[in-house]
Amino acid sequence: MKQMWIGESVNHVGSSVVLEGWISNRRDHGKIIFLDLRDRSGICQTVCGPWTDASVYVVASTLRSEWVVRIEGEVKKRPDNMVNDALPTGQIEIDIHRIEVLNEADTPPFDIHESDGYEVKEELRMKYRYLDLRRKRLTSMLGMRHRIIHTIRQWLDQKGFFEVETPILTRSTPEGARDYVVPSRLHQGSFYALPQAPQQYKQLLMASGVERYFQIARCFRDEDTRGDRQPEFTQMDLEVSFVDREDVMQLNEELLVHLVETLFPQKHISQRPFPRLTYKEAMETYGTDRPDLRKDTSDPHELAFGWIVDFPFFEKTDGGGWTFTHNPFSAPQKEYVDAILEKRDIDTILTTQYDVVLNGFEIGGGSIRAHQPHVLRSVLSIIGYSDEEIETHFGHMLKAFSLGIPPHGGIAWGLDRLISLLLGEPNIREVIAFPKTGDGRDLLMDAPAPISQEQLNELHIAVEKKKDN
Ligand code: ASP
Repeated sequence: MKQMWIGESVNHVGSSVVLEGWISNRRDHGKIIFLDLRDRSGICQTVCGPWTDASVYVVASTLRSEWVVRIEGEVKKRPDNMVNDALPTGQIEIDIHRIEVLNEADTPPFDIHESDGYEVKEELRMKYRYLDLRRKRLTSMLGMRHRIIHTIRQWLDQKGFFEVETPILTRSTPEGARDYVVPSRLHQGSFYALPQAPQQYKQLLMASGVERYFQIARCFRDEDTRGDRQPEFTQMDLEVSFVDREDVMQLNEELLVHLVETLFPQKHISQRPFPRLTYKEAMETYGTDRPDLRKDTSDPHELAFGWIVDFPFFEKTDGGGWTFTHNPFSAPQKEYVDAILEKRDIDTILTTQYDVVLNGFEIGGGSIRAHQPHVLRSVLSIIGYSDEEIETHFGHMLKAFSLGIPPHGGIAWGLDRLISLLLGEPNIREVIAFPKTGDGRDLLMDAPAPISQEQLNELHIAVEKKKDN
């Protein structure tokens, strides 16, 4: 266990301390050597000179950037003209008594000490992500991400929510994107799918009597490169029983405000309660269903949340049929239940979907669900499933719905996007510990990668030779 965080050393003037960390920088000024020592909590200056034990001085002169060391010394107040106000420990320095080299380091491929890293080629940063993460900007990001998730967990716990983990190896579901699939060794020719979202499981948890569920959930969608999407991303996923639309929106609004007030007191929310726009109003006024509602876009501290409601339930497919705009499990608004059951006026039917937007991005969305089996069945039939297909793909849901499921609804936030907006980062890769490239590669682990012939044989999989273009 570490003796003390480097950031705390400033409170120990006059004491002997033991500090462990990385050499961030070495400056030789004639006979005096300054070593900036860094750990997660910050940086402080350590110093040795002609007054220092000669053998310690010799070691100090060999240290290089990113070597890992343990330094013992005395915390001394700096003379007034040496104080560095830019550094939280700028009032003090450590007079080195002893140095132990815990590990040496090769010269790093890019600078960690001086820069925020934006200027370094992103592929290089990803390949050496563990070095990139040593930067103050990214270390603080990890800390803030942790605290955001911790604050969400605490708040929901107080409101009586259970966090429940749902399976990662599951079955392909129609959430609107392509699934990542995993071959089964024991069941030759069969495949699991990684969840695009825990949608069905969270609804089944409502059938299980959990009533208030949430999960910091990993989701997987095999989509073509689009913007800064990631093949795997994190949702704050939530579902509640015995609620209507108003209850879920209210709850989420409270939680978002709590997060901002607790962790980002310097930020201000433009309008509360969050303004609500119908899909039609948003499209007519802003030409988008994720409008930027900020009053002043040059203000980095303005957070303009808003709700978009009254989305059409269905849209036409290229083939002339119908598909859902958001979620096939949503309920229609009450006045459209008959139209759903009678499968008429499809283009006019509105869903209970609500999306929450922030500064021009959609940061979450959800709905009240169709909890009566005949309503869900009718939705599925409108989007083109035959009775037989409904039974095969959704039989388990319809069965659960016929065994006493309460009315329920929920939401999922795109947590990476929300965090990037709160931290003022330009893209979500900056707030994910180990992000992938736009085309889905993990450059650090070099994934995806071929597997051995033995593994393929075990899985009964034959890989076709790549065709030349
Ligand atoms: N499962 C939905 C999604 O991932 C969110 C929800 O309706 O709760 O977009």
